[in-house]
Amino acid sequence: MSEEPQISTRSGWTTDDVPACAVGTDLLSQFQATRPNDYAFLEVQDFADLSTSAFEGILEWDAFTEHCASCEDCKEQLSACAER
Ligand SMILES: [Zn+2]
Repeated sequence: MSEEPQISTRSGWTTDDVPACAVGTDLLSQFQATRPNDYAFLEVQDFADLSTSAFEGILEWDAFTEHCASCEDCKEQLSACAER
């Protein structure tokens, strides 16, 4: 058994649906591992506009948004989430 741990949320998206880079995805995994209850309420759309997120103040989320603010890959790719 070598199944990838699936990260699940209320609306059913996984990190596969979030086009963050490896570092960003790793930060999200940490968020999920540490605070699964908060993580479950994230929506893919939340990634399109990180500045208005209701998750501000959650350490793991802040680490993720901080990374995205300085990562060109994440910045560019996450803005595409708005179209979903
Ligand atoms: Zn990144």
